[in-house]
Amino acid sequence: MAIVACPFCGKKVSSKAASCPHCGKGLAEVSPLQIERIARDKHLALGQSINNHAMISILLFLGSFVWLYFRMPEEGSWQSWLTYGVMGLGAAGYVISKVRMVMYKRK
Ligand SMILES: [Zn+2]
Repeated sequence: MAIVACPFCGKKVSSKAASCPHCGKGLAEVSPLQIERIARDKHLALGQSINNHAMISILLFLGSFVWLYFRMPEEGSWQSWLTYGVMGLGAAGYVISKVRMVMYKRK
């Protein structure tokens, strides 16, 4: 008996288990090829999701920069704080998604 990752939820299950005790999906009728395909699809979906987060972060950052440049909200007003907040959020989100991408590519 070996401990393997459930292809559906990723949690650890016995290789002999008929169904996953965590998500309840049946494992007995799933062929190793299907398990591999499900795992690959999940991996690709995660990469796509990280890319989407990076893109949204860039848009937030650049959008707030363009807003700051053209609208020039008064210094200290709630509009300027909101603009800086969104800018910071975009920058932080971009850095986080880059770190996630490095970790994603290691797998
Ligand atoms: Zn599961």
